[in-house]
Amino acid sequence: MFHQFQILALHLILCLGVCVASDSGVEFDGTRAFEILKRQCDFGPRVAGSPASRLCMEFIEKELRQYGLTITRQYFTASSRLQGGVVTGVNIIGLYQGERPTSELLALSAHWDTRPIAERDPNPALRRRPIIGANDGASGVAVLCEIARVLKERRYPGRILFLFFDLEDAGLPGTMEEWCLGSQYFASHSLQDYHITAGINFDMVGDRELNVKPDRLSMEHARKMTGDFFQLAQRRAPYHYSTIPQDFVLMDDHAPFLKRGIPWVDIIDFDYPYWHTHEDTPDKCSPISLQIIGNVAVEYICGRLKKN
Ligand SMILES: [Zn+2]
Repeated sequence: MFHQFQILALHLILCLGVCVASDSGVEFDGTRAFEILKRQCDFGPRVAGSPASRLCMEFIEKELRQYGLTITRQYFTASSRLQGGVVTGVNIIGLYQGERPTSELLALSAHWDTRPIAERDPNPALRRRPIIGANDGASGVAVLCEIARVLKERRYPGRILFLFFDLEDAGLPGTMEEWCLGSQYFASHSLQDYHITAGINFDMVGDRELNVKPDRLSMEHARKMTGDFFQLAQRRAPYHYSTIPQDFVLMDDHAPFLKRGIPWVDIIDFDYPYWHTHEDTPDKCSPISLQIIGNVAVEYICGRLKKN
């Protein structure tokens, strides 16, 4: 039943997409985004500092270069007891510059690392092994890369900062400590270099049973932007964006920016039974879900430019 709704919703979205497309008619392609999700998973777990992580970084950078982004690597060190102490992480920063200089600098963010343990796996013997992170890691990256392609092909005139944060998922289980280390580092060291107006974070957006609820921190600290985004999302994909907020506060990569007064909406479907288990694999995700997320995001980004 759920899947019938999903397919119906996709058709509706695709039809609406034609109406809201730019002159070029280039649309977000969920199938292509899903390929990018799978390519990351093929590297294996992308734990910060691992060989797989380095290969994945090169893959992401190659993707972004195709779309004319200027790429910077931001290396940083942080403490992760889960990874045995001081660890080096890399934030991948991609700047898209359109032809028209705008005062607005919208940031799109996602974490590209995956969890070094699987503390929620039903099999205790496997809990100390790193996960593949198809949804928790690869899905947000896939959406960002595909948005970069769409903006380039539409010749989007504004500026967008693409932020791929490392070490989001190396925190201690059951605590608020040592999570979101890449975004915390960027927020405390780089905001003077990039005058970011607002941001959108994408995390766990590939679940084949997609149901995104408004995040509490976003609602509290970025009320207007969160309201605007979810109003649009609910019009376009009412079966996949809920009006009911999450009933808990979650720590994610938007938090360090909200703390500094920059509105940053977290788009996350936290209702995912495979979270932090070895079952978080591509078959639990869907190109249709990525399509729904991507269509709404692109429409929001383009609509925002018109207002600025
Ligand atoms: Zn996680």
